[in-house]
Amino acid sequence: MKIIRPATPMFFNSDVSIGEEIEQAKLWKDAQRCSEKRSRKLFSEWLDEMRPPEKKNEVTAEMIERAKEFPIENMLEVVRGVARCISGEHEDKRPSMQVKHNRVKCFSCGYKNDTIGVAQTIYGISFHEAVKKLQ
Ligand SMILES: [Zn+2]
Repeated sequence: MKIIRPATPMFFNSDVSIGEEIEQAKLWKDAQRCSEKRSRKLFSEWLDEMRPPEKKNEVTAEMIERAKEFPIENMLEVVRGVARCISGEHEDKRPSMQVKHNRVKCFSCGYKNDTIGVAQTIYGISFHEAVKKLQ
């Protein structure tokens, strides 16, 4: 199957939001993976390099990866692998949110998230702001 690639990635369009950019970048990344089998890391580095200067201070794939590696214990009080649930859906007198592999999962309400989502929930900030905060 021959994949036709656009001359420039669609996400360079300045009218799209960061969420749409990420979706478009993912689609484009998939196409790239099929057509050339480049490693994901190389491709995200290439994407970052290709960003126009006015977008250099925006969130990059590398920043997202780094944010996901931010120690989740720095945001939550974790005792023996569990923390109080942060979903706000219920009281959590006996902590029921498991903390494992830098992700959380509440066995009471089903809330689950990674570091970026946890930062969004705790601080009430956007995905974009959370990624920047967790560098
Ligand atoms: Zn919960």
